[in-house]
Amino acid sequence: MGINNSEMVELKIDGHKVTATSDSSIIQALWSAGYPRIKGVGCLEGVCGSCRVMLRRNKESGVEMALGCQTLAEEGMDVMFLDFPTPSRHSYHLGPIASSWDLQDKFHEIFPEAENCRHCGGCDTACPKGIEVQKGVRLASNGSFREAGELFTVCVSCDLCMTGCPENIAPNRVGLFARRATAHFHGRPPNLIHRLEQIRRGELAITYPEKLDKHNHITD
Ligand code: SF4
Ligand code: SF4
Repeated sequence: MGINNSEMVELKIDGHKVTATSDSSIIQALWSAGYPRIKGVGCLEGVCGSCRVMLRRNKESGVEMALGCQTLAEEGMDVMFLDFPTPSRHSYHLGPIASSWDLQDKFHEIFPEAENCRHCGGCDTACPKGIEVQKGVRLASNGSFREAGELFTVCVSCDLCMTGCPENIAPNRVGLFARRATAHFHGRPPNLIHRLEQIRRGELAITYPEKLDKHNHITD
């Protein structure tokens, strides 16, 4: 990021007035202003989904969901980090499922609420990765697990789709089930080898802003 081509912007993050260069991500802006935030910060590469934020851009009335590490600071932006506990439900084991013929019954036993989808599109709007979440839920409910799983291959498990669902559906868990079931009965998800290769080549390496060491401590 070149400081020379950027300008200073003022925004609000979690109620703090922050001034940062316009080429800073929201997280970098907070850090550079001296507010060390550790909770809700993970890979800084848009992969882990920890840094979910709700934001309103300057003079716009609507809000949007985004990932703090992937969104640049803007003048007048109002940002709130979303910290909420991830509910632990939908516990299951695929091993005891005898064959793929039994998958659909098992799916509806684990996710009975999935059939109640209202097709409101709230999950699509919430998803910062642009996944067709609603379609994925419908495909899985209809037993098309491979197709459903493919839609969720870039899911970062940020839980935003689950948080806004009026039917208490956890679309990302539905997607994960679809991917697991596909891998268990048919083979690996299509991009798994690609992702592993990216990790092996260091293309998903974590980088730290200038002022922080790897323990997220400010160094000056
Ligand atoms: S938010 Fe829930 S009810 Fe609405 S489309 Fe998504 S899964 Fe269906
Ligand atoms: S599908 Fe849900 S959990 Fe996955 S990235 Fe989109 S909003 Fe986040």
